[in-house]
Amino acid sequence: MQYVSTRGSAPALGFEDVTLAGLASDGGLYVPESWPSFSPDDIRALAGLSYVETAVRVMAPFVTGSLGEEELRELCEAAYGRFSHDAVTPLVQLDHRHWLLELFHGPTLAFKDVALQLLGELFERFLSRREDHLTIVGATSGDTGSAAIDAVAGRAKVDIFMLHPEGRVSDVQRRQMTTVRAPNVYNIAIDGSFDDAQALVKAMFNDADFSRRFNLSAVNSINWARLMAQVVYYFYAAVRLGAPERPVAFSVPTGNFGDVFAGYVAAQMGLPVARLMVATNVNDILHRALSEGDYSQGQVVPTATPSMDIQVSSNFERLLFDAGGRDGKALAQQMHGFEASKAMRLTNAQRDGASKLFASTRVDADGMTMAMRWAYDAAGQIIDPHSAIGLAAARAMDVDPSVPVVTLATAHAAKFRDAVERATGTRPPLPPRVGDLFAREESYAKLPGTFEAVTAYVAERATPRA
Ligand SMILES: *Cc1c(COP(=O)(O)O)cnc(C)c1O
Repeated sequence: MQYVSTRGSAPALGFEDVTLAGLASDGGLYVPESWPSFSPDDIRALAGLSYVETAVRVMAPFVTGSLGEEELRELCEAAYGRFSHDAVTPLVQLDHRHWLLELFHGPTLAFKDVALQLLGELFERFLSRREDHLTIVGATSGDTGSAAIDAVAGRAKVDIFMLHPEGRVSDVQRRQMTTVRAPNVYNIAIDGSFDDAQALVKAMFNDADFSRRFNLSAVNSINWARLMAQVVYYFYAAVRLGAPERPVAFSVPTGNFGDVFAGYVAAQMGLPVARLMVATNVNDILHRALSEGDYSQGQVVPTATPSMDIQVSSNFERLLFDAGGRDGKALAQQMHGFEASKAMRLTNAQRDGASKLFASTRVDADGMTMAMRWAYDAAGQIIDPHSAIGLAAARAMDVDPSVPVVTLATAHAAKFRDAVERATGTRPPLPPRVGDLFAREESYAKLPGTFEAVTAYVAERATPRA
């Protein structure tokens, strides 16, 4: 499988190169040259398969030329063997038509583990082949940082430096990062906001000498391999609810548009997806874009769902490219316009292409709280605030009543205990697998939010390229 850039001028690359590169050299994102196609019989044949076997079947066409089937199976077994539920992503029934797809049974209690555990395995495999080394530098508002650190801790070919804004991530999130003891893991608390931390990371990537010397790499959701890993659970869930005979709708709490774009990919591959609901909190750029064609950046408002407090959605470009007719040169112009003015209109082709599958809903704090209470009253389920945004939108969805509606539950309620307690009066306990989190010793550096301080810290500890 070859991959092309959404901006039309970077060279086409195979899966291995795309995984290690992250962003394309023209500033675009990589997407498969064409979508693999699954017939109804191919989908029927997934019935009853384990999560790992489903993953091998669904991902195999995306990795041809880079990984054989047996290698892919080994990597999936290693990645998903670390989940605490045998089904990896189990379905839970809420009422006669609403279901939760629980994506939080990985080591750090949020759905990002599903993709990052596999990405850790892929990095190790590809870097060993090349006898190369990577330095991952990232900024996190919580979930990506802990999932990425867990995925690469102790690996020989990778060092990771993770910046978080001091005092602005939850205690559980911070401890999941700072109590990991491995010689290749470095946590840095920055005196500043998440945007300051993010700007420092960007500045390091833009410093071409620094970036080359340490072979910098990113783990944010622009990496194609992360999206690919997320396509699997759409198949896994839909097959259990009757696909290919019966179509299924999904509601997805959305920030960077990675998770819901994976659902779009599943539909392009032939999975009968009746509707994809893009559920946003009050930071609603995606809702405005999909309902009115207005993609203009506002101010980020902090909410109880920090992983969705986003005003620019990095993966949306992939949808604009594919739904708008795959014209990379035109999209490059459109995106440069957006980068300059912080606003753009979707073209008619992009709007029509998107409206075939997507709907969108903006959910405020009251809507979120009501969904949490409903899940508890209807089915005894304590859900996290992000999942509640998805569930509120799912319950407002306009689809044929015979279609099952699956809400993606993206985090364990215990990861956001304070917000859950405020909304429901119940404080969810930490699951046993992270039980001693508050007894473990923390270790992290505190640095001022300056380029000089952070680059000096990294340069002293990272492994330069041979
Ligand atoms: C990252 C995250 C999201 C948003 O996912 P995107 O792929 O960025 O749209 C939603 N919920 C939780 C708990 C997350 O960590």
